[in-house]
Amino acid sequence: MSYDRYDIAPENFDREVSAFFESGGRGLNVTVPHKERAATWADELTPRAQRAGAVNTLVKLEDGRIRGDNTDGAGLMADLTRLGIEVSDRRLLILGAGGATRGILGPLKERRPAELVIANRTAERARALAGEQGCRYDELGPFLNRGNFDLVIHATPLGLTGDIPAVDPRVIGPRTFAYDLGYGKPDTPFIRWARQYGAAGVAQGLGMLVEQAAESFRIWRGIAPNTADVHRKIAA
Ligand code: NAP
Repeated sequence: MSYDRYDIAPENFDREVSAFFESGGRGLNVTVPHKERAATWADELTPRAQRAGAVNTLVKLEDGRIRGDNTDGAGLMADLTRLGIEVSDRRLLILGAGGATRGILGPLKERRPAELVIANRTAERARALAGEQGCRYDELGPFLNRGNFDLVIHATPLGLTGDIPAVDPRVIGPRTFAYDLGYGKPDTPFIRWARQYGAAGVAQGLGMLVEQAAESFRIWRGIAPNTADVHRKIAA
């Protein structure tokens, strides 16, 4: 078995992914910015991928059709459980309304948070997603003034360029847990920012990365890997 990286431009997605499967590829993970395209490209979707409208896992079925799934939500929930972070009855804020947010919204909502707000640079995109998924939305910046949240999840690719979204720091309070879907060494800009404003706890998305990958592996190979060893090795 081999697992490699492919850097694909959005305009080449269909052609290159088709070529991958035609040349014998059995499964793919799909990441930023291709998740929504992958959902429309796949021949069929699992219910959770359909709900998300975003796909991070493609698998070739026995009959040659390509099924799209989304393991991001399961990955995040497994990591939050591992970290002992409560979602039920808590106030949640998600920064960003892209493919990753689509994947995590359903499983977060299933835990029945007291409030779930999506804030995005393009308010219209947050409004559309919130309407579709049955939660609330807001704009980034000084307009966001709802007090502290219990859990603030950063779901934009801004960390890749050393930035954070322009969000009011009052969303962070002394009981806030800040979770960055991104990851980096030693800390991501969002994690540094959350610490600066006094977050009670922080975590990077490496744990989620491990858990969503394990779930993808289970889909491809029918075996659920033991992730505890991987978390231990990464932490060492
Ligand atoms: P995406 O679909 O490209 O979403 C982009 C989002 O970021 C949009 O809401 C966009 O806002 C916002 N954004 C982009 N540039 C911005 C800026 N300059 N200021 C404010 N907002 C900005 O990306 P994605 O697939 O959701 O992924 C988001 C991040 O999550 C990536 O870093 C990805 O690596 C990470 N991720 C991690 C895991 C994990 O396992 N740890 C899993 C999935 C994703 P607009 O709508 O205004 O453009």
